[in-house]
Amino acid sequence: MARIGFVGLGNMGAPMARNLAKAGHEVAVFDLSVEAMGRVEEARRASSAADAARGAGFVITMLPAGRHVREAWLGEGGMAAAAERDAVLLDCSTIDVGTARGVAEACAQSFLDAPVSGGVMGAEAGTLTFMVGGPQEAFRRAEPVLGAMGRTVVHCGDAGAGQAAKACNNMLLAISMIGTCEAFVLAEKLGLSHEALFEVASKSSGQCWSLTTYCPVPGPVPSSPANRDYRPGFAAALMVKDVGLSQQAASEAGLETPMGAKALDLYRRFVEAGGGETDFSGIIRMLRGEGGV
Ligand code: NAD
Repeated sequence: MARIGFVGLGNMGAPMARNLAKAGHEVAVFDLSVEAMGRVEEARRASSAADAARGAGFVITMLPAGRHVREAWLGEGGMAAAAERDAVLLDCSTIDVGTARGVAEACAQSFLDAPVSGGVMGAEAGTLTFMVGGPQEAFRRAEPVLGAMGRTVVHCGDAGAGQAAKACNNMLLAISMIGTCEAFVLAEKLGLSHEALFEVASKSSGQCWSLTTYCPVPGPVPSSPANRDYRPGFAAALMVKDVGLSQQAASEAGLETPMGAKALDLYRRFVEAGGGETDFSGIIRMLRGEGGV
């Protein structure tokens, strides 16, 4: 079993740290919020991020955005300086590719970017998917640790490749969900029932995850948020963050992604209209022209 430092005990980090402790690892946790520190009773409460990192074989962050990640690892009293030279450092937050590469380069230790998909439910159930960028040898060592928090662990390439995979996947999801919503709204206008469109499209070339697993209208897929008034699931505000990161990556790479840009614009409008806490599939209401999202 490993000694693990874990920093960032929010909606995602707290259940992830609990799963590491439940798997028998010796975990030291830290969060700036006193309330968050109380969420992982199974772990030792460290006095600072650096204290959590000291003496650990693996050090993990799960923080809101790139600036928090840079500060936590490289700022004054940062964790990189406190961590052992042979420790594997991991950041599981969703951040921009540039910061992920920059932090990895600045750390003397092996650093892995390892963002997740699966949301809070996946974090609690220990069924997250990890997309990992960084050195193969560090990945091999970290795999069992990630396996205590998730079901699927994929090595995507060098530093930043995990964040790149997350940005590309979520841009595709954002676009496919809007396309699926538009198809249902058009069907409504044409007098075609939801069930008939689902029956045809789920068995033909329109088939996609947004339709068959996360259907944005109630009925065809009973577990989708549409059946519970679009309670998340995956909140639209988080989708704006993720598609924003994909657009930042595209712009830094000198690439135009017109569908990604349009999806970001539409999700921003949905959030501005009050849909931020609504599941992202609830954007169908805005596309239908319904008020009061
Ligand atoms: P959250 O806001 O609930 O938690 C973040 C925690 O980090 C807070 O407790 C905060 O106090 C702490 N924190 C901030 N700066 C800190 C610092 N310098 N040192 C110590 N603690 C610090 O966020 P979350 O929902 O847990 O998300 C965390 C990351 O996971 C984000 O990057 C998010 O995009 C990503 N993510 C979230 C979901 C989701 O469904 N919530 C799904 C996939 C990925």
